[in-house]
Amino acid sequence: MALDVKLIKLAQALLVEAGHPIGDIDGLIGTKTLAALNATTGIVKAWSTEQKIIGIIQLHGAAKNVYDGKIDGLWGPRTQLAYDAIMHIRLYGHQEEVWRTEDVVAPVNPNDWPLQRLADLNAYFGTAKPEGANLVTVNFPYEMVIAWSPAKKVTKTLCNAKVKTSLERVLTKVKNEYGIGNIQNLRLDFFGGCFNYRPMRGGTMLSTHSWGIALDFDPINNQLKWDRDRATLARPEYRRWWEIWEEEGWVSLGRQRNYDWMHVQACKLLS
Ligand SMILES: [Zn+2]
Repeated sequence: MALDVKLIKLAQALLVEAGHPIGDIDGLIGTKTLAALNATTGIVKAWSTEQKIIGIIQLHGAAKNVYDGKIDGLWGPRTQLAYDAIMHIRLYGHQEEVWRTEDVVAPVNPNDWPLQRLADLNAYFGTAKPEGANLVTVNFPYEMVIAWSPAKKVTKTLCNAKVKTSLERVLTKVKNEYGIGNIQNLRLDFFGGCFNYRPMRGGTMLSTHSWGIALDFDPINNQLKWDRDRATLARPEYRRWWEIWEEEGWVSLGRQRNYDWMHVQACKLLS
């Protein structure tokens, strides 16, 4: 397989930056380039030249924290991502805002949302029992559809009285920043429900939906056990969506725990 000249040039540039005198960055693998490749720690001499070039890129990616795969000189999706990230850094001088969901913290809590503990939730939002206690109607600033029955439009839902104004602010911001066209394209209007009195899936503790303080969006494409590799709401185009929620202190289980990406709630995780 012939190596892309872009890859060779990148590897050469990295070798030069590492202090190897290889002459011109010309995309041609000559003796100087080969010598520099072989002199690099982590590059296996027995590898093919192509592997060595790719290995240089992997090593650099690892050093820049944009590659956590093996240094094996083999091109794969992770190496592709690392390559893209490296090129972005070199072009713009900083890393593309890689959306490392597990690192996301919600540093603000302007509404003082409580911790996800029964006593705290009941104290803040009122008890979940009797079913449907403390609920009010919130009108959506844009029309949504029922996710599992998209022909059905919905313009309001029941939510806990304490989250109503925050929810309105969030959705209004989403409307203003994304616009209706993008909302629809991104399926941000696929509503999966808010109030629902039930235990957590697989648990006995009540779901936060029982207080009407959690909402689900596009559940079909963001299923409970799906991680960021499958869940659409983990994609970069939704970053602002989540930030808007987080600016109001809401918590995304996807962003915090990398599952249940459909779900957002007005209470903080215990740890
Ligand atoms: Zn949910």
